[in-house]
Amino acid sequence: MSEGREGPKGPRGPSTGSVHGGEREHQGSEAITVPIYQTSTFWFRSSEELIAYQEGRLRREEYGRYGNPTWKAVERKLCELEGAEEAVLFGSGMGAATTLFMALLPPGSHLIVTSDCYRRTRQFIRQYLSRMDVETTVIDPADPQQLAGAIRDETALFFTESPTNPYLRVIEVPEVVRVCHERGVKVVIDSTFATPVNHRALDEGADLVIHSATKYLGGHNDLLAGVVAGSAECVGPVRDAVGVFGGITDAHSAWLLLRGLKTLALRMERHNANGLAVARWLEEHPRVRRVWYPLLPSHPDHETARSSLRGGGGVVTFELDTDLDGAVRFTDACRLPYIAPSLGGVESLVEMPVTMSYWDVEREERIKMGITDSLIRLSCGIEDGDDLIADLSQALDAV
Ligand code: PLP
Repeated sequence: MSEGREGPKGPRGPSTGSVHGGEREHQGSEAITVPIYQTSTFWFRSSEELIAYQEGRLRREEYGRYGNPTWKAVERKLCELEGAEEAVLFGSGMGAATTLFMALLPPGSHLIVTSDCYRRTRQFIRQYLSRMDVETTVIDPADPQQLAGAIRDETALFFTESPTNPYLRVIEVPEVVRVCHERGVKVVIDSTFATPVNHRALDEGADLVIHSATKYLGGHNDLLAGVVAGSAECVGPVRDAVGVFGGITDAHSAWLLLRGLKTLALRMERHNANGLAVARWLEEHPRVRRVWYPLLPSHPDHETARSSLRGGGGVVTFELDTDLDGAVRFTDACRLPYIAPSLGGVESLVEMPVTMSYWDVEREERIKMGITDSLIRLSCGIEDGDDLIADLSQALDAV
């Protein structure tokens, strides 16, 4: 899949794109690295220059909420990696998602989302989008028939993660694109769990891709950022909206992201290898009831995953054959993975959805959502796979 990618400088692979994409046109001197443009505003040499800019005859920066060369470099790199015409950066993944919804869903329109989805995205839809007179239908992931049945005349967007969170359901993007485009509905894929290394949804016809760049794209658990990428026509209204809502990133985080992205393809190789090795090992373990990992034959979307993903990523979800206390004993006994929310960084992280993201959901409702007491989400970092498995093994002994 790495051959034949059309970046702004012609076809080149994801490793080359990660290192070189967007860099040269933003360097500003002979330094190899793009500087951190730590400025809130940009000056004009004369009113003539200002007017040329206002009239669109001159392309340059104006004010820090509308652009900064450090984040422009990141945007261009992400364009190359995703095969997008335009990308726009945000201060977080939620900044990207909420701005996108507000920009692309007019009052009175209808949205379709999948049920297995980051909790705060669902909260935004339920609590805030409803106030904007936008109705939402929730469908099962990976069910194009349910999708077709949910589309109405006023449906504007179909939004889904792929793979989803936490069950790693994999969406058949070409099929959902076919169903949606027939009825004039735009398709937005939250590709946080896949990254452009494992899956490029725009190549399969999606209109927009969105990421929490806090995760694999940044990759070092040291920044928060988000991105929306796609055609200039689709990204344009989202860029205009962020200039109004103000959920921008800062130059220093953008620079950390630019630096982190240079090793994205390399890091993903290790995340993919560790994820698969850990998933296979857990599936054989007597204390593990069930494992969800897209590249395991036991996963419900295994066939789609095999044909569309270049790797399964670092996240493995599994249910222990124990109760809440046993699961707590397991997480507390892990020595390598930190107990922490988030995923996709070089350090492995482990969490129990019950005590983390679903803490304030009533048990009955939580169980209905499939979030059982002994469910674990492990984000495999880039440690040596054998060390990770040895650590999980001793932690499972504590169950
Ligand atoms: N999308 C997905 C799939 C996520 O898992 C998350 C956060 O966990 C977000 C979006 C939100 O991103 P952020 O935490 O950068 O705001």
